[in-house]
Amino acid sequence: MANEFSIDNTLCSALEERRAANLYRNRRVLESPQVPNVVVDGKSYTAFCSNDYLGLANHPAVISAFQHAANQFGVGSGASHLVAGHSSEHHALEEELAAFTGRDRALLFSTGYMANMGAITALVGQGDAIFEDRLNHASLLDAGLLSGARFQRFLHNDLENLQTRLDKTEAERKLIVVDGVFSMDGDCAPLPELAALAKKNNAWLMVDDAHGFGCLGKHGGGSAEYFGLSQHDLPILMGTLGKAFGTFGAFVAGSETLIETLIQFSRSYIYTTAMPPAVAAATRASLRLLQEEHWRREHLQQLIFRFRSGAQELGLQLLDSFSPIQPIIIGDEARTLAIAEKLAERGILIIAIRPPTVAAGSSRLRVTFSAEHSLAQVDQLLNALSDVVGTSSGSVGE
Ligand SMILES: *Cc1c(COP(=O)(O)O)cnc(C)c1O
Repeated sequence: MANEFSIDNTLCSALEERRAANLYRNRRVLESPQVPNVVVDGKSYTAFCSNDYLGLANHPAVISAFQHAANQFGVGSGASHLVAGHSSEHHALEEELAAFTGRDRALLFSTGYMANMGAITALVGQGDAIFEDRLNHASLLDAGLLSGARFQRFLHNDLENLQTRLDKTEAERKLIVVDGVFSMDGDCAPLPELAALAKKNNAWLMVDDAHGFGCLGKHGGGSAEYFGLSQHDLPILMGTLGKAFGTFGAFVAGSETLIETLIQFSRSYIYTTAMPPAVAAATRASLRLLQEEHWRREHLQQLIFRFRSGAQELGLQLLDSFSPIQPIIIGDEARTLAIAEKLAERGILIIAIRPPTVAAGSSRLRVTFSAEHSLAQVDQLLNALSDVVGTSSGSVGE
């Protein structure tokens, strides 16, 4: 007889519950590069689900920079940054990111999750207060909880709600943290207003620009460039390199003192192996392309415009977004899955996003665009959506 308290017996009830609620997650196996025409589990699709917004993940110049650096530096960095793993490629990328963002300095982290963990826990702790938008990315919420600071979530983009909470705190260190572009909705945080509010309340502002960096701003400088926010307005700027940059990793940019503080006190910076130098070299190539090739952002805007007008004609429920993240809100989990499946039958790959990633009842198809998509592919998507809307019971946009 199996022991009723064995690990498998104990764990399987939560799995069964998740399956019954249509919330079970399955992984697909990608057999091609991350491009608009992907091969997944042996089948070809036109995909609208990567975060490779500028189409740089498979760019020949980025690949070549990666290969050259691998020949020169090998594959693994072999140590953490503070031990002996901080290579000249990492260092050069940090200097270029600082110049690009107009900050004193930038510090590389191995992932965005770790950058958020490391920055927030180094900046606030017990006796301090942290205020986060309730739609913030999971890594920011986890970091806030881990920090030990008094953790509060304010209503999405609601400055009055935030002010009310700030009025009630007696903490000396107050940290306000938001996504620049919200990852599941695609809308922007009101950063100029938040920066003013932070100053007025003697609070620090941190922005996670994972989805804005590379996409927004004339030169791809992200939310900070788009809104013209200097290091003085926005002292803690975090960006990731695995999305619009098409590579891997993340950084925090800010003052000399901020960066030295992170080097000394960020545990997720100190106690981990540095990213491979070749990844940093590839990212330097991405950074050059991203600044030179304005057409990528311009084409992306054309794709977004075409999609939004077509989807509105079909009566689909979109959100207030001008970013490459264009979710179609469906609501019910099972229905969202069914629609994604019907689209897959028509050769279109879009992922159904369900709770706990989004709020209950707000399941959605998270459509994302890349500069490598063509206008014809957007039309293909709209045609497929039109078919699926026509064959499903009731309006999909409910
Ligand atoms: C993707 C993402 C992260 C995590 O970045 P990784 O480099 O993938 O770990 C952090 N914040 C936001 C808003 C993100 O979308």
